[in-house]
Amino acid sequence: MSKPKPHNKESLNKNALTTKSKKDKTKLLKHIYNSKKWKELRKKHIDEHPLCECCGDIATQVHHIIPFSNGKSEKEIKKLAYDPDNLVSLCKSCHLKKHN
Ligand SMILES: [Zn+2]
Ligand SMILES: [Zn+2]
Repeated sequence: MSKPKPHNKESLNKNALTTKSKKDKTKLLKHIYNSKKWKELRKKHIDEHPLCECCGDIATQVHHIIPFSNGKSEKEIKKLAYDPDNLVSLCKSCHLKKHN
């Protein structure tokens, strides 16, 4: 069974998307951060894990254990981005430390 590919507004840039250049990757990452799906997933994760998993403070941010920018394809990137097992709740300062 093949999954039908939903049409999206990005299809204007169809050729660029298939080349998977850095610029397109940035665009995809931005698209994920702005997506309703991510925002809902993020909110749900904070609801279920309200405390920072590093220091126990109130969590305000959700961090990806494996950065979804590591994904080598759009499919892989989305899988990492939306995988609840790949998320941890963090407070702002612990989140900053994770990225430094
Ligand atoms: Zn913390
Ligand atoms: Zn992070």
